[in-house]
Amino acid sequence: MLVFEFKCKATKQQYQAIDEAIRIGQFIRNKCLRYWMDASREKKVNYAVLCQIIPDLCKEFPFAEKLNSMARQASAERTWFAVSRFFDNCKKKVPGKKGYPKFKKHSRSVEYKTSGYKISDERKYLTITDKTGIGKLKLIGSHNLSFYDNKLIKRVRLIRRADGYYAQFCIDFSREELLPSTGKIVGIDVGITSFYTDSNGNKVDNPKYLRKSEKRLKKAQRRLSKRFKKGKQQSKRYHKQRNKVAKIHLKVSRQRKDFAVKTAKTLICSNDAVVYEELKIKNMVKNRKLSKSISDASWSIFTNWLDYFGKIHGRYVESVAPHFTSQNCSTCGEIVKKSLSVRTHICSCGCVLDRDENAAVNILRKVFPNTAGQAGIYAQGQTDLCLISESLLDKLTG
Ligand SMILES: [Zn+2]
Repeated sequence: MLVFEFKCKATKQQYQAIDEAIRIGQFIRNKCLRYWMDASREKKVNYAVLCQIIPDLCKEFPFAEKLNSMARQASAERTWFAVSRFFDNCKKKVPGKKGYPKFKKHSRSVEYKTSGYKISDERKYLTITDKTGIGKLKLIGSHNLSFYDNKLIKRVRLIRRADGYYAQFCIDFSREELLPSTGKIVGIDVGITSFYTDSNGNKVDNPKYLRKSEKRLKKAQRRLSKRFKKGKQQSKRYHKQRNKVAKIHLKVSRQRKDFAVKTAKTLICSNDAVVYEELKIKNMVKNRKLSKSISDASWSIFTNWLDYFGKIHGRYVESVAPHFTSQNCSTCGEIVKKSLSVRTHICSCGCVLDRDENAAVNILRKVFPNTAGQAGIYAQGQTDLCLISESLLDKLTG
């Protein structure tokens, strides 16, 4: 699935109409959730049942009819996603919170499926044709939609962000551009001081511009919390600052994404196989330290792109559990305990390595321990790995 995003240009009334459509979508989503909470005690409620209650909802609340019927269904679908994710987490016994579905108060998007809109022939305008009154939106952006047939467009999403309104097109199109083999494989470890360290000892740092705008964001957030008055109505100055924070936040998240995409692409292009470490779930649930949660967030964006580019370019991408990757010696396997502040791995076998590099080698080893491990990968149908040179495997296993 490809996703293209455009900024929408329209009048103030049209933007208000988009807000209204988003509100209706949220209303339906919440009503479906209410129904699921109440009715599921007595009978089985699934997605189909949720869809069946929409016509009654429309009778009771006529304004809901303004939204296209398939968009109404998409809202019920969102409820169902939330419910089934909750069930899944319970079934899998995920540690920590299971994510019991919540009512939405601040939805920022509404989704159309295959009806309720029209895309102009030259693909420069999107017209929403239901009774919400959104009308014709000008699409601004560098993507070229005309390459894809209308039938491939499965969803259109209208999104409100801090700096305006956007239209997203989800296109059912799988890209595949196989790349020539490089004969290289690599393991990478989340860095504490750098963004990542690979098993060859290369470090990639967070770019300066990103650190700069993250600092700016922190400063703006501090100012915002100073202006917050508990239990009182918030001042104009507070709301102004809130808007400012939202805009910086948007900028930072875009920069973060750009960096993740570029870095992932480079890594995939220059290696036949990439092994990375999964995040520790404990960190994600418990860690309250802001800087850590930011780096966790960037890491999962980055690894998502690694998986994605790996699929497109026919590379082998694998994640491993984060057990003992930093404590074990990558040369002899001995456990060398060290606290977070110790940056160098020194083992009695004579191995002296940067802490993160040692971890990265261990991460790579979890998937490529020796030739037997390699056979296991062949069994999964990753024939590309045949191209990895013998000498490289010798180096890894020797
Ligand atoms: Zn050792």
